[in-house]
Amino acid sequence: MFEDIIHFIRSMYGEDSIIPLHAPYFFGNEKKYLNECIDSTFVSSIGGYVDEFEERIAHYIGSKYAVATTNGTSALHISLLIANVEENDEVITQSFTFVATSNAISYCGARPIFIDVDRDTLGLSPVALRVFLETNTTFKNNKCINNVTGRVIKACLPMHTYGQPCRVDEIRDICFKYNIFLIEDCAESLGSFYKNQHTGTFGKIGIMSFNGNKIITSGGGGCIFTDDEELAKKAKHLTTTSKVPHKWEYTHDMTGYNYRMPNLNAALLVAQLENLDNFVLKKRKLALAYSDFFINTPYAFMNEPENSKSNYWLNLIILGSKSQRDLFLNKTNINGVMTRPIWTLMHKLSMFKDSQCGTLTNSEWLAQRVVCLPSSVII
Ligand SMILES: *Cc1c(COP(=O)(O)O)cnc(C)c1O
Repeated sequence: MFEDIIHFIRSMYGEDSIIPLHAPYFFGNEKKYLNECIDSTFVSSIGGYVDEFEERIAHYIGSKYAVATTNGTSALHISLLIANVEENDEVITQSFTFVATSNAISYCGARPIFIDVDRDTLGLSPVALRVFLETNTTFKNNKCINNVTGRVIKACLPMHTYGQPCRVDEIRDICFKYNIFLIEDCAESLGSFYKNQHTGTFGKIGIMSFNGNKIITSGGGGCIFTDDEELAKKAKHLTTTSKVPHKWEYTHDMTGYNYRMPNLNAALLVAQLENLDNFVLKKRKLALAYSDFFINTPYAFMNEPENSKSNYWLNLIILGSKSQRDLFLNKTNINGVMTRPIWTLMHKLSMFKDSQCGTLTNSEWLAQRVVCLPSSVII
């Protein structure tokens, strides 16, 4: 059976050599804009492509403001800072995520609390979130206090895993009730909509990544988006060394960061963004082909959850057991078809092993069974 899957993937990609998990594709204006950028000499922290990108992505997402950053991790870091997450605060997130989500919480001196995901979305479960808050917290002086640690739970950071939208409207309502600041990690979900609204626009802030493996890439890059003008200004200020605007004076009014996206990366990204709709279309076509194929197998292909339109950034199947998963990983990778398990769950990593957790039944179940399949756009 695994041979049939390998054969099917090879036939789709028409490839005899190694099939990567996710490769970027440059067939638009990338070289043109990069050349223009180099010719202008404005390759670094000042230049028109950054402004152009911020305007275009904000428009695409349906968000009022966007601030481009060096990568998705720095976008997460700044988002938590402007959410007022401070030393010893706590932030709720998923154990089933990429390490950057949790690292950004640590950068602020705060601690993550890991809550379970839903099996059908792979994203933070609103039920698990509500149960955790109801059993472990007290709401006092408009603050959500953790009964176990006595610390304030300041923010909640769900992630739209592999591009599949989570139940973020329900999460938003719970966060509102407990005065918890909602930031959505949309690093993987550019082009994914929930109830016809782009992911990342339910919370106060959304972040994205444009790393080489994401749906569009700037080589390295990220962005923060929000409808709140104050937050957008703060994000811009903090990512640009907190410099006070002046014709020539160099004055900085707080400890800022050099997290701005270079113009060279933005030039590449503007060209990539022009092809985003095309990429999403092709990725959805690929997902449909996988879905049709796996119907006739014992393995469950992950279709987009209810009420959502997914970008299908990474396609995945759920195998029957960990041993079957390991066999599949071995067989496919030996045969040059790159497949990958999910990330080691955050609460199992040495730096987060003492973190507080809710019940993580679904996360543990999925971690043993999920395998990501080659998902590059087929032109
Ligand atoms: C890629 C990714 C990030 C980090 O983005 P970088 O640009 O690599 O720093 C954060 N969160 C998730 C879920 C990601 O997949």
